[in-house]
Amino acid sequence: MTARSIARLPVATWIRLSLLALAAVSLSCATSSGNSSRAAEPSSSAAASGPTTAATLASAGGRKTQNVVLVTIDGMRWQEVFGGFELRVLEQGTRLPDPDGLRQRYARATPELRRQALMPFFWETVAREGQIFGDPGSHSTARVTNGFKFSYPGYNEMLSGYPDPRIDSNRPFPNPNPNVLEFLAKRPGFDGKVAAYGTWDRLYPIVNAERSKFFVQAGWTPIADQPLTDRQRELNGWLADLPRIWPENTFDSFVGRAAMEHLRRHKPRVMYVMFGETDEWAHLHRYDCYLDAARLNDRWIGELWQWLQSDPQYAGKTSLVITTDHGRGGTPSDWGDHGKDTPGAEDIWMAVIGPDTPPLGARRDVAVTQGQIAATLAALLGEDYRAAVPKAAPPLPDVIGRREGGR
Ligand SMILES: [Zn+2]
Repeated sequence: MTARSIARLPVATWIRLSLLALAAVSLSCATSSGNSSRAAEPSSSAAASGPTTAATLASAGGRKTQNVVLVTIDGMRWQEVFGGFELRVLEQGTRLPDPDGLRQRYARATPELRRQALMPFFWETVAREGQIFGDPGSHSTARVTNGFKFSYPGYNEMLSGYPDPRIDSNRPFPNPNPNVLEFLAKRPGFDGKVAAYGTWDRLYPIVNAERSKFFVQAGWTPIADQPLTDRQRELNGWLADLPRIWPENTFDSFVGRAAMEHLRRHKPRVMYVMFGETDEWAHLHRYDCYLDAARLNDRWIGELWQWLQSDPQYAGKTSLVITTDHGRGGTPSDWGDHGKDTPGAEDIWMAVIGPDTPPLGARRDVAVTQGQIAATLAALLGEDYRAAVPKAAPPLPDVIGRREGGR
């Protein structure tokens, strides 16, 4: 994504807009926490759709996964994922309103403590019970291979399973390639059970929503559900009131809540949630907001995971994949940038956690590519994406296997 339009605003204007937005977002956090909302809204359609077929299919081969959730954090650098807050980026020269507060939140003595402060769920739970790819410290790489190193080509590579030189801009043209979400939506047991929520309105063309047919909700479009629940109505109210700092990208907080409500209400078997603030703030060189957005995403993912483990359809039967569409520059001067001319912006990270994934933590000595996400999502569900799309990359190595002992 880019932030060209906002970049033209006078600094004082966008800082004021940002603060307004953040105030609104934190207020909204205070009014509806993930926990308090859990008990409400009994699921209407879930029981009726019955996971019988699903259970039969998923149990083939001893696999436990019957649902998958994919979460992406746009343009989130591996540098912070594996090393947390970088002092040299803070000191690059961009004036931030509260550098001391930022240090207090994220500056720690070691990379391990810093990453833990930034993404506690990722490092306390995913690293311990799942697998993480792309850690240079473990001699591992995870790479974007499309050469463009920006969003649409990245999401195409991730969801279609291969890079495509035709996908060479972020313009909203319908993606000619198939994608794994669309593939799954057509498999037996998945009809009406695939949904995607995104902050970025390009999600519609990226998955070719018109052709794909599964449920897509993105950008500043109000939630369209029939009939709206009280929570959805309230969320749409917030959406209308929030400042449109980015005309194409709404706030993560809105999308996180909207997606949770969809999960509670419709119980999809395949859910994709695309968060976008990290990229937008990074383009504005707002290292504080970039880190806070990552922290918020991690908290949301943690609450999501906790909720999944409390729901009979999902508990012990759901795999979660977390990744990003591209990396960014690796120096204090180009950390905000990405694109084909930014060295290192091809380096990304990815993580998998679920009942079929051996708890190997940060994977050592392994090189993987972005395109492997597509076939991995299908394989976790016992489906063979490459049978339908042979040029897609294979699933990630050893993410599906017998778990050692019971946990
Ligand atoms: Zn971007």
